[in-house]
Amino acid sequence: MTYDPGNIFAKILRGELPAYRVYEDERVLAFLDIMPRAPGHTLVIPKAPSRNLLDVAPDDLAAVAAVAQKIARAQMSAFGAEGITVTQHNEHAGGQEVFHLHVHVIPRHTGIELKPPLSYKETPEVLAEQAARLSSVLEG
Ligand code: 5GP
Repeated sequence: MTYDPGNIFAKILRGELPAYRVYEDERVLAFLDIMPRAPGHTLVIPKAPSRNLLDVAPDDLAAVAAVAQKIARAQMSAFGAEGITVTQHNEHAGGQEVFHLHVHVIPRHTGIELKPPLSYKETPEVLAEQAARLSSVLEG
């Protein structure tokens, strides 16, 4: 399995496609999922090319995990979350649709089920407001 630099997240990293960016450092980028399974659903990706968990360099994986924790903590206050679900898919058989490693960090509320994957495209206005809200907690 090889890395395809034409994948959507590689294009976001290169600035060829827009994204609702909420956090960035030298190794990691975090942005909102445009088809969220719950409000505030965020994707955390390494900047270095890696297809998934099976080929990522351990240092990049550690950097992604640290940012996933930072996002989860910020989501608790930004979205009044009561819990956080973290998921990560590898290869077609593992549910992966975009072949650049990403970790899903999803705010949860008691009794509210996740929407099915890829079932609902959020509006730009809502995503922009949510990105601003999460960014402001992360910057605070
Ligand atoms: P996977 O199934 O590979 O773990 O998840 C891929 C995720 O990428 C899905 O949750 C899907 O909604 C999200 N996604 C697909 N295309 C785009 C896009 O162009 N921009 C953003 N921000 N998310 C996307």
